[in-house]
Amino acid sequence: MENRTNVKGVLVSTEHYIGGKRVASEKSFATINPNQPTQILAEISRGDSATADLAVVEAQKGFEVWSQMSVGERSAIMHKLADLIESRAQDIATVECMDMGMRYESLVNRLVPRGARNFRSYAQIAKDHKPRKWHSNTTTNEIQRMPSGVSVIITPWNAPFMLCTWKCAPALAAGNSVILKPAEWSPLSASILADLIDEAGFPAGVFNIVQGIGEEVGAALVSNPKVARVSFTGSVDAARIIGAAAAKNIVPFTGELGGKGPLIVFPDADLDAAVKKAVGQFDDSGQVCLAGTRLLVHESLKEEFLSKFLALTAKQKLGSSWEDETEITPMIHPKHLENVVGFVERARDNGDSILCGGKIYQEGALWYEPTLIEPKSNDSEVVQREIFGPVLTLQTFATEDQAIVLANSTEFGLSGMIYTTSREIASRVGRAIRAGTVWVNCFLIRDLTAPFGGFGWSGIGREGGDYAIDFHSDIKTFQILDDSLND
Ligand code: ADP
Repeated sequence: MENRTNVKGVLVSTEHYIGGKRVASEKSFATINPNQPTQILAEISRGDSATADLAVVEAQKGFEVWSQMSVGERSAIMHKLADLIESRAQDIATVECMDMGMRYESLVNRLVPRGARNFRSYAQIAKDHKPRKWHSNTTTNEIQRMPSGVSVIITPWNAPFMLCTWKCAPALAAGNSVILKPAEWSPLSASILADLIDEAGFPAGVFNIVQGIGEEVGAALVSNPKVARVSFTGSVDAARIIGAAAAKNIVPFTGELGGKGPLIVFPDADLDAAVKKAVGQFDDSGQVCLAGTRLLVHESLKEEFLSKFLALTAKQKLGSSWEDETEITPMIHPKHLENVVGFVERARDNGDSILCGGKIYQEGALWYEPTLIEPKSNDSEVVQREIFGPVLTLQTFATEDQAIVLANSTEFGLSGMIYTTSREIASRVGRAIRAGTVWVNCFLIRDLTAPFGGFGWSGIGREGGDYAIDFHSDIKTFQILDDSLND
């Protein structure tokens, strides 16, 4: 009998989903409720290298079927999955809120629907794709995009449902089979996805979900030589190991690895809008790779910006992830809270100034107060390293060139934000910022066909639209000599 656990009224399987069946492991790992960290929500099957091997064998079988189906047939099943996600949105949001601690309202209205949109969007992109065909010299040429095999997808613990759908959809649209390994701190929503995959009618082995620890089953998956692609989102440290494992097998690897985005405010900006967005970087307790965590403010604005920022931050409501009005939710895990505490303590020791926050909210709970730090120098650790918590830094600049130098002064380059009303400034600074996405007077607005990824330590490769489908495909140039074939 398959093991299911009751998470706030939703029955969630604690097992893997491999070859169209639930499969259990003997060992398990626990996942907790960030709102009440002593509460264990579930003991989940903890995959090992045998689990990984089984998943690869089953995914290879799934690939044989899926890659032979037409784009239209595959797209129809992906649309069915999107329908099912929409019909179970409340259950998925409930379970993810319990498991990850993100605000329920945001999950049910924004991130779970985006999960459905990920599948719809890639189903459409695959259908719309027109292979490039042209004549040159003495041949007719065509670029063919071929399914490449089994894609291993390793996902992080923040926004788990949205990110696993975002990363799996293009692989499926490419005609590949998928093995998804969700993060061990928030594995539960992916288990609901497995139920929906089953219901949507994916042939067995096309879409597999393996649970477990990164260094165990994750490492076994990414180093399996039968795998065709490895797609990862997570930390720089893990990317170095995973990328090396893939490279050993000459397997293409893509990684989205976090950021340290600048949010630059020029003197001509709509200051209230800029302050509001700056405070908005505390959303989801800063557990967002795209966040603009380095506030770079023109020196003439510093006082006014700071007083408005501190006033608005003081009103931020720490609270339960279930309440709509909550602004600051708990950190996902005691170990992660410890990371954040460590960054701020070291900043204090370094002589950086803590302008607000800088402490945990309550012993035994996982909330950390929204924190602003004025660093002693640009070399301070809090400026140069990703904290992934509700901790921002404030620096000033005198000239546009200084703003650009500061913006580009970390190893990361995922995102940047510019607040200005000048088209010239927006265009000059936008071009000069080394980042995969630059937003002007806005944040987080995404067109799913646009490329997404990072410069430097923020990643390798691009997701989004055809960029992601190309990554999962084998690309072939097909050339026929003129007048050499009978009609
Ligand atoms: P974070 O620092 O955000 O917790 P990690 O990069 O450690 O992120 O983890 C992101 C994902 O990568 C998780 O699913 C984790 O299990 C997985 N992972 C971590 N280390 C490895 C590894 N060596 N091989 C494969 N997967 C890994």
